[in-house]
Amino acid sequence: MKILFFALAFVLCSCSQKAIKSGPTQIIDAHLHFNSKKLNSFSQPTPILLEKFQKNHIVGGVVHLTDEENFKVSVDRKGSIKWMTCVGLHENDKVEKVEKGIKEGRFQCIKVYLGYVPKWATDPFYRGFYRLAERYQLPVVFHTGDTYDKMAKVKFADPLQIDEVAVEYPKVKFVIAHMGNPWFNSAAEVVYKNDNVYVDVSGLLLGDISHLSPEDLDELVIKPVKWFYSYVENPKKFLFGSDWPLVEMEPYIDLMKKIVPEKDWPGFFHDNAKAVFRF
Ligand SMILES: [Zn+2]
Repeated sequence: MKILFFALAFVLCSCSQKAIKSGPTQIIDAHLHFNSKKLNSFSQPTPILLEKFQKNHIVGGVVHLTDEENFKVSVDRKGSIKWMTCVGLHENDKVEKVEKGIKEGRFQCIKVYLGYVPKWATDPFYRGFYRLAERYQLPVVFHTGDTYDKMAKVKFADPLQIDEVAVEYPKVKFVIAHMGNPWFNSAAEVVYKNDNVYVDVSGLLLGDISHLSPEDLDELVIKPVKWFYSYVENPKKFLFGSDWPLVEMEPYIDLMKKIVPEKDWPGFFHDNAKAVFRF
C-alpha cells in the first residue's frame, strides 16, 4: 500500500501530540531522484532542489539516476552540497561502460532496480557490477518492495534474496531501499544478519491514501518502522532517505523524527550515510 503525501501533511499536523523538535540537524538525504526528464533539465541540481535542501539543512544527497540520466546528466559538484550519484542499471548496460563512468567521476554508487528490471539480485547479469563495486569500494543500493510502475514485476523486489549476494560479496556494502515495504520482516532479518547490509527509509509514503487516518498511519508506517528499528539492534544500519520528488522532504523528516529516538538522530540523518557512501 502506498500513501499520499498530501494526506500525510494533514495527518502529521492533526495527530501530533507534542511539537516536533526542529533544530538544525544536519542531514544527508541518502535516496532521492533528479527527475531530469520531467523537469526538462539534465543540468543539476535545479534551483527548486537547492531550495528544498537549504531549507531543511540538507548538506548532501545520494541521487539514484535513471537509465536516461546516467550519461546525460551534468552535476554541479563545486557547490556547498555534496552529491553522490548512483548509476541506475538497466537490462542492456555494460560493465565496461559503467566502469568508465566511475573512473570519470560520474558514479559513486550503483542502483539496482529490482522489480522494475525483471531479474533477481543473484542474476548473472549483476555479478560483474558487484565485482566492480568491490573493486572501487562503491555501495550497491537495491530498490525493494512495492513498485511505482504497474508493469514492473514485484516478485523480483522481495528483499530476502539480498541475503544471498550479501554473503557472496562480503566486502561490498548493500543498501535495501524502502525497507522492503511491505516485506518489513524479511528486510529486517537480512539487515540484522549481515554486517554489510544497510537500509534506507525512503518512499514509504506515496500514492493515494485520501482516506488514511492517524490510526492507519500508525499501523502502516510508524509501527512497522519502529519494530524494524528495534529488531535490527544497530542504529548504524539506518539511513535517512526521502525519495524526493515522490515525497515532500519536510514532513518526511518530521515523521522520521517521531519514529527514530532523538539520541540516534546524528547517525540516522547524517553520519551513517556519510560512512556508507563515503561522503
Ligand atoms: Zn527512489
